[in-house]
Amino acid sequence: MNVLGIESTAHTLGVGIVSEEEVLANQKSMFEPEEGGIHPRKAAEHHYQHALELLNNAEQEAKIDIEDLDGIAFAQGPGIPQCLDVGAVIARSLSKKHDIPLIGVNHCLAHISIGTRTTEAENPTTLYVSGGNSQIIDFRKGFYRIVGETQDIALGNALDKLARKLGYPHPGGPEIERLAEETDEIVELSYPVKGMDFSFSGLATEAQRKIGDVDDNVLANSFQEHAYAVTVEALERAMSQESSTEALLTGGVAMNSRLREMVEDMCEQRDAKAYFPPPEYCMDNGAMIAHQGMLELKAGKETSIEDSSKKPNWRPDEVEVEWI
Ligand code: AMP
Ligand code: MG
Repeated sequence: MNVLGIESTAHTLGVGIVSEEEVLANQKSMFEPEEGGIHPRKAAEHHYQHALELLNNAEQEAKIDIEDLDGIAFAQGPGIPQCLDVGAVIARSLSKKHDIPLIGVNHCLAHISIGTRTTEAENPTTLYVSGGNSQIIDFRKGFYRIVGETQDIALGNALDKLARKLGYPHPGGPEIERLAEETDEIVELSYPVKGMDFSFSGLATEAQRKIGDVDDNVLANSFQEHAYAVTVEALERAMSQESSTEALLTGGVAMNSRLREMVEDMCEQRDAKAYFPPPEYCMDNGAMIAHQGMLELKAGKETSIEDSSKKPNWRPDEVEVEWI
């Protein structure tokens, strides 16, 4: 079975093609704002402009014609509405034109599925931290449950906001990481863990207010130490509650070496294992949507055109899981 997947929930347009055995193509183009954060209309325009080129490149990379595919998958949500529309329109058109089954998948669950496909993790507790989402997700009794999540903005978004105020372009996470590597010093900030949940908006504001009074490196390091400790503390509690022996880290912030180190240390202390998918599958990508689509199509799921509207706030715990 060969399935094409389209990712367009936020800044990245991705087109991937997978078979049961391998990832045949994984093409992507990222919208990079000239200033500020992700402007929804400009990001959507970027996606429209690059759609044909990425589709052609994916076809060539996979050495497969679109009409020979067994499924067209797209990320139906959650995400930025204007961006979600692009993937949905392309997927519906391809499906209709070539009479290929259509499947709309949940972006967060696709991150988890590609994570277990590309690592040895089997049934992990997942920490999904990206520009738009921060959730701890666990699979129990036939459903994915969100056991902890941000009460306001995502961790990646908070890093991007702080970096922007420090004068760095989007995405800011790697810049904060680079600044933080230069020092071991930290200043005390608040520690926003709330039961199994956490929040980053206040922490980002607090750090921004210290710009100028505290050295940039120290501020970046302090932000990382506080924000990552909060997420790893919640992850540890989630694992303890579920007697979980596997942690999977995914989403763009999962590329951060300090966060990985903290997750690894925590897992070592609990005799658990930490898994990190390769970077190209941590960031948003088309292959993960294709893989999730393949799992669902094989389980007999399909999305009709009528049911294929975007779902900007689609939570992973609302998805009926028939493929596990
Ligand atoms: P995603 O939304 O999953 O594509 O991930 C994008 C987010 O990941 C942005 O907020 C980036 O700032 C963040 N990010 C990427 N690389 C790193 C890194 N090395 N450390 C921290 N955050 C990162
Ligand atoms: Mg993502």
